[in-house]
Amino acid sequence: MACLFCNILEKKVPATVVYEDEHALAFRDIRPVAPTHVLVIPKKHLAAVHDLDDVHAEAVGRLLVAARRVADQEGLTKDGYRLVINDGDAAGQTVHHIHVHVLGGRSLSWPPG
Ligand code: AMP
Ligand code: ZN
Repeated sequence: MACLFCNILEKKVPATVVYEDEHALAFRDIRPVAPTHVLVIPKKHLAAVHDLDDVHAEAVGRLLVAARRVADQEGLTKDGYRLVINDGDAAGQTVHHIHVHVLGGRSLSWPPG
């Protein structure tokens, strides 16, 4: 499968891994937009939020728990942080394997661009 993040999971593409559990892998974004910018992905390929259904509820819940653990581990919990999932072209999704951006280490404006 020509999926970049599946290739990272399979260690065919290098990444700076910061967290791993049975269901999720987290690694540093190659083009960080904040002092901390980590991507958390499910180990099972899921292309996008618009594909999700009831059967995926547990996997998505585990993904969010993993993102929370990453934020704690990165020292973001005290000041706060942002979790982002881009879905589809208008949101700027470029990799079609669901990923949660964990962003922190600076003030984050709202609304996003
Ligand atoms: P999105 O635009 O929401 O689909 O996010 C994809 C993210 O993947 C972007 O922030 C990219 O900088 C990041 N990215 C692309 N290739 C890699 C890579 N090889 N390792 C780590 N992050 C990557
Ligand atoms: Zn994939």
